[in-house]
Amino acid sequence: MPGRHNIKNENALIVTLIENPVEKTKSYKANASVDYILQNDSCIKTKGTIILYFKKDSSLSTLEYGSQLIITKPLQEIKNSGNPGGFDYKRYSLFQGITHQVYLKQDEFEILSTINKNFGKEKAIQVANAVKDAIDQIKSNIDRYKIDCGFLEADAYLFAQDEHQEKELQEILEATNDAGVKAVYTDCIPVPFPFVKAMKVSGQAKFNPLQYVHGLAVAFENKGGVIVQNCMVTGVEDNEWVEAETNTGTFKGKELIYATHIPPGINLLHLRCVPYRSYAVAVTLRNNEYPTDLAYDMVDPYHYYRAQDVNGTTYLIAGGKDHKTAHEENTDKSFLEMEAQVLKHFPVENIEYRWSSQYFESADGLPYIGHLPGHPQHIYVATGFGGNGMVYSHVAALTLREILLNQEQKYSSLFNPNRIKPVAGFTNFIKHNADVAKQFANKWFSHEEIHELADLAPGEGRVVIFNKQKIGLFKHETGALYAVNPICSHMKCEVKWNVAERTWDCPCHGARYSYDGSVITGPADHELEQIAIKSLQEEEKH
Ligand SMILES: Cc1cc2nc3c(=O)[nH]c(=O)nc-3n(C[C@H](O)[C@H](O)[C@H](O)COP(=O)(O)OP(=O)(O)OC[C@H]3O[C@@H](n4cnc5c(N)ncnc54)[C@H](O)[C@@H]3O)c2cc1C
Repeated sequence: MPGRHNIKNENALIVTLIENPVEKTKSYKANASVDYILQNDSCIKTKGTIILYFKKDSSLSTLEYGSQLIITKPLQEIKNSGNPGGFDYKRYSLFQGITHQVYLKQDEFEILSTINKNFGKEKAIQVANAVKDAIDQIKSNIDRYKIDCGFLEADAYLFAQDEHQEKELQEILEATNDAGVKAVYTDCIPVPFPFVKAMKVSGQAKFNPLQYVHGLAVAFENKGGVIVQNCMVTGVEDNEWVEAETNTGTFKGKELIYATHIPPGINLLHLRCVPYRSYAVAVTLRNNEYPTDLAYDMVDPYHYYRAQDVNGTTYLIAGGKDHKTAHEENTDKSFLEMEAQVLKHFPVENIEYRWSSQYFESADGLPYIGHLPGHPQHIYVATGFGGNGMVYSHVAALTLREILLNQEQKYSSLFNPNRIKPVAGFTNFIKHNADVAKQFANKWFSHEEIHELADLAPGEGRVVIFNKQKIGLFKHETGALYAVNPICSHMKCEVKWNVAERTWDCPCHGARYSYDGSVITGPADHELEQIAIKSLQEEEKH
């Protein structure tokens, strides 16, 4: 059907391949969904399908189903060959809702999200050295500021449980050794699991991160530093001085670092960092046989096991079951599976705690540390730490110190957030965009109708369609009904209900909101639009 989408020749498009490229005589061909139009100062979410043709080229081996690209070349309308009686390609495409195509040479697109595991040996060695420097920095902080955080050196074990995993383990062992980190095969692992092969890396560490960060904060204040708490940054002006607007006033400074897990607002890095949720449980064991080292299996999604002393009690912490944020419908199931896995293999006395949290995985596996894309002067960022934030945050501290103090730059090019060059015209897009789609402004919905329609159990949340409009509804145990516009205030994706956490989570860039729509975690910095629900009788009185 023609006209199903609004794709025209705009400044740039962000598209996702919806199939693996297929080889043709002179090109590779793949259909792609169009996700965003980047135009002047704004980023408009859109829908539609186009056909991409790629000139045959060696770099195409990295393109696959799910690869996200920015393309700057204008689209062409699909036309027929003009041969009378020939195959009506235009009509055929129209029936699939496709009206446009584009032929791309290598410099006419940029790959955003294909994971390139191969950084090469030299860079792998640099990363290993940065990680070693970071661990040394943690040890030195603990010694220097006498931080009591249960720091213990530990060995890390990775174990394979079938032939396929064994092959992968061999590759990991070789790559680890190539990077200058010693990894060896071992006959025993510290957890009661059957395995076919296992490797051990020494010189790892475990500590209580909250006690450590608290110790650092105290040391910082003792040296005259000031930490302002409960202070939400809502906007930043990047001029000769950087001005940060917050809920407690405006702060002015020479330089600003976003150490906010993911930078707020809209930035190129949101397209390069994928949000994941990860689950953990802490249990006590009847036999008191807690592992002293760290263990990881190789299933997908993986599990890890370690022990931690907290206030005189030892706990086994088991974690994993990672999935992309808002891509798992029943998040309670993730906890139940995690618990079942622990109960099956350990003599569990009690399940004491369970929690889930978020992390951001970068497109190529390395964090982004340095100048925030689009802000080459005074604004910096440290993000995309994946599951290695303890170490990479220290790599960030070392790298940003290098940059800010104009020291010899050991790591800044390796972790440079601009390491894939932004496409032309993209800097316009990354301007802060607080333009929320105001679909419900000045509208109200009747309490009685919505109640009947939703039929929610206490504690339940759901997106419902009412009067052709989607509404995110949550019913509190008190009976109170909360209604929000389920469109993320960040880049306008539809949020999904997270059963376990009772939050609205955005599947695109990981923003999270409380059931009443208030922001819990960025990149969103504006709440979900509230929807007014009034009783019909109440309205009649007015
Ligand atoms: C279950 C789980 C297990 C993990 N295990 C490990 C592990 O074993 N080892 C490891 O190294 N890593 C691990 N990680 C990863 C690690 O926890 C994260 O990478 C790390 O916490 C990220 O640190 P951060 O300082 O970047 O962000 P955060 O710790 O999220 O801190 C960001 C801070 O910025 C504040 N903030 C955000 N927006 C604003 C704003 N607009 N204004 C003001 N303040 C703002 C937030 O309130 C917060 O205090 C794990 C992660 C998960 C989810």
